[in-house]
Amino acid sequence: MSAKVLIVTGGSRGIGAAVCRRAAADGWDVAVNYSGNAEAAETSAAAVRKAGCRAITVQGDMAQEADIVRLFETAERELGAITGVVCNAGITGKITRVEDMSVEAMRGVIDLNVLGVMIANREAVRRMSTKRKGAGGAIVNLSSIAPRVGSPNEFVHYAASKGAVDAWTLGLSREVAGEGVRVNAVAPGMIDTDIHATAGAPDRAQRLGATVPIGRAGTADEVAEAVVWLLSDAARYCIGTVLSVNGGR
Ligand code: NAP
Repeated sequence: MSAKVLIVTGGSRGIGAAVCRRAAADGWDVAVNYSGNAEAAETSAAAVRKAGCRAITVQGDMAQEADIVRLFETAERELGAITGVVCNAGITGKITRVEDMSVEAMRGVIDLNVLGVMIANREAVRRMSTKRKGAGGAIVNLSSIAPRVGSPNEFVHYAASKGAVDAWTLGLSREVAGEGVRVNAVAPGMIDTDIHATAGAPDRAQRLGATVPIGRAGTADEVAEAVVWLLSDAARYCIGTVLSVNGGR
């Protein structure tokens, strides 16, 4: 069996960091990508090593093709053939109504959440597809419940970007299902991470958590369980699934 070598984009904080920790418990060596927070990336990598697996950190903007390609090349060179990729890096943008939204804000969200995922998925397929002499593997993209609720008055551009991730995941999954590559997504609900403070509402998860049917926001660890399960062989018949982890929201 091939070694378990995983790339996690945005693995330094929040859901990505939880995925790194949980994946190491399953025996994955991990390339931890981050954007600006080297210290947090090092903490993620240290947790992976503590679990007995190998880890490297790789700075790179996942909205930039050259950085994405460099991430894959570095991970491959230092850890070996890539067999898992979690496209987690994502932003909501600042909370804004559409009428006040700049093109720059729209483009920032689309470039990272949509184009970044497309490019990283392409790089994964190029290396994993048995048609291209790869050994197969699994891709998990981070979606959201946002395409179902639309996120009005907050970040409609974000909801649209995650809708694109869902469609892309379905289409690509069917394109490569016969080539040893499984592509799936996880759609979290309200999860308590830094993303809300970055959007401009630090209390958002606490405030809206109470409106979730289960009565609270979720944790990054609860999302990581689903992501790492989809990476695993236990999910071998899952193709194009968007797995909801949302407390009933
Ligand atoms: P978070 O706490 O804000 O963490 C974001 C992570 O992405 C950090 O590791 C950050 O790196 C990295 N990142 C940001 N921009 C990047 C870029 N341009 N290139 C590379 N890495 C970048 O976010 P989160 O809540 O864990 O969200 C993770 C994913 O889950 C996102 O795709 C998000 O849309 C999705 N999601 C989250 C929720 C939620 O409620 N939290 C709900 C549904 C879906 P640095 O540490 O270096 O800044």
